[in-house]
Amino acid sequence: MSYPVYARIDGPIVMIGFGSIGRGTLPLIERHFDFDRDKLVIIEPNAANAPAIQAAGYRRVGDALTPASYRDVLGGLLQRGQGFVVNLSVDTSSLDLMKFCREMDVPYIDTVVEPWEGFYFDTEDNAARTNYALRQAVRDEKAADPGGSTAVSCCGANPGMVSWFVKAGLEKLAHDMGVAADPKTRQDWAALMHKLGVKGVHIAERDTQVRHAPRAPGHFVNTWSVEGFIAEGFQPAELGWGSWEPWFPPNAHRQAKGCKSAIWLEQPGANTRVRTWCPTPGPQFGFLVTHNESVSIADYYTVGDGDHPTFRPTVHYAYHPCDDAVLSLHEMFGSGQVQQVHHILDVEEIVDGIDELGVLLYGHDKNALWYGSRLSNDDAKTLAPDQNATGLQVTSAVLAGMVWALENPGAGIVETDEMDHARCLEVQSAYLGPVEGHYTDWTPLSDRQSHFPEDLIESEPWAFANVLERLGA
Ligand code: NAD
Repeated sequence: MSYPVYARIDGPIVMIGFGSIGRGTLPLIERHFDFDRDKLVIIEPNAANAPAIQAAGYRRVGDALTPASYRDVLGGLLQRGQGFVVNLSVDTSSLDLMKFCREMDVPYIDTVVEPWEGFYFDTEDNAARTNYALRQAVRDEKAADPGGSTAVSCCGANPGMVSWFVKAGLEKLAHDMGVAADPKTRQDWAALMHKLGVKGVHIAERDTQVRHAPRAPGHFVNTWSVEGFIAEGFQPAELGWGSWEPWFPPNAHRQAKGCKSAIWLEQPGANTRVRTWCPTPGPQFGFLVTHNESVSIADYYTVGDGDHPTFRPTVHYAYHPCDDAVLSLHEMFGSGQVQQVHHILDVEEIVDGIDELGVLLYGHDKNALWYGSRLSNDDAKTLAPDQNATGLQVTSAVLAGMVWALENPGAGIVETDEMDHARCLEVQSAYLGPVEGHYTDWTPLSDRQSHFPEDLIESEPWAFANVLERLGA
């Protein structure tokens, strides 16, 4: 096979983290960029990953980055104005690493606004533990230091690719509704969403990947970072808050500073169920896990002033992870104990299933449109080495983000909402399996069959009050 080579990268490429996503990203970098192999270095503190790095023929730096060490470690590896830093680690501050790379004029990319170790569990104040707070710190840095070397924030599958799907979905909706649209600016896109009558967006995901062996008690099994999922799962449930919502959750809080696009609930996201819809299962429960894109998409599509918007969509994740992960969460929240054994399902042990990850644009005259990738593990196997379907949706977004960054130097700190979605999806599409749009007439009020009282809002089917599972309310 020959693959398109998108750019030449001179100077050091520094990858931080060689977990499930790092391991899957490396072969895509090898395929799609021209670079000097002896200049690619991988910072990976976990010695268990050393053989894989050695087998791939690269140098490993074994130091864990810490607030005290990162400038020295990275400073010893980077060259001003050259190379690339690809941050795919947990427990490192995305903001600090990004700032240092920009000081060095080195392009940077990550897939999440990650904090230093300890933040998720040691911080007492729940408002400070939100993704809103983490993202706002990056937005404040962008405002304080605009322009400069390109640093792409949160460019994985979600956050990341799903922001490009929102734009592609809006374009499809405009086409299907016969609405002329040629949005160029953030304001244009927000106005288009408003004009089309979209009330909100679920990041609607169903992961059906399975292996033969049943999950053993005491094991947390997932299709990507277990540590990462547990950390975000224990953060407060969080969502971009629509200007049109008729009800406000009694345990919710607004934010005091910043863009104010999101609210958070006094309950862990991975133990909060919401109703959503994906093509394969149809209606399903997902978990309202906090994610950067819930905040950023709601912010990006705000019409008017952030404090009193004319329009803002409700935006949240509705994540049905693989069945083993659902059981793992059930066991973890039920026992109050985080499992000791963590396992990421390997592409070879998965025997069936797909990761169906898209955006459900709802509330308009055509009711709801799901637009996204329906990548199977079997397809992932043939498309790229060392990763399952979930991983490939993430790593191919990293690839697209790197291409965009190299084509747009000097763009400063950017989120995926602010990037050229068509170019990014063009690069990524070879790795996404079928990318499809599906309309549904399902709403959160469809087929409610409760014998128990439910405080539903019949006049507004898409109200978050109907989406959130709150039996007995
Ligand atoms: P993983 O747990 O498999 O790997 C994380 C890696 O980080 C490990 O190799 C670990 O040794 C390394 N690491 C830990 N502490 C470090 C430190 N102090 N300095 C340097 N390296 C350190 O995780 P993963 O599944 O590969 O995910 C990597 C990151 O990507 C996570 O932050 C995760 O949340 C994020 N992610 C984003 C998306 C998305 O769609 N946006 C999807 C999946 C994962």
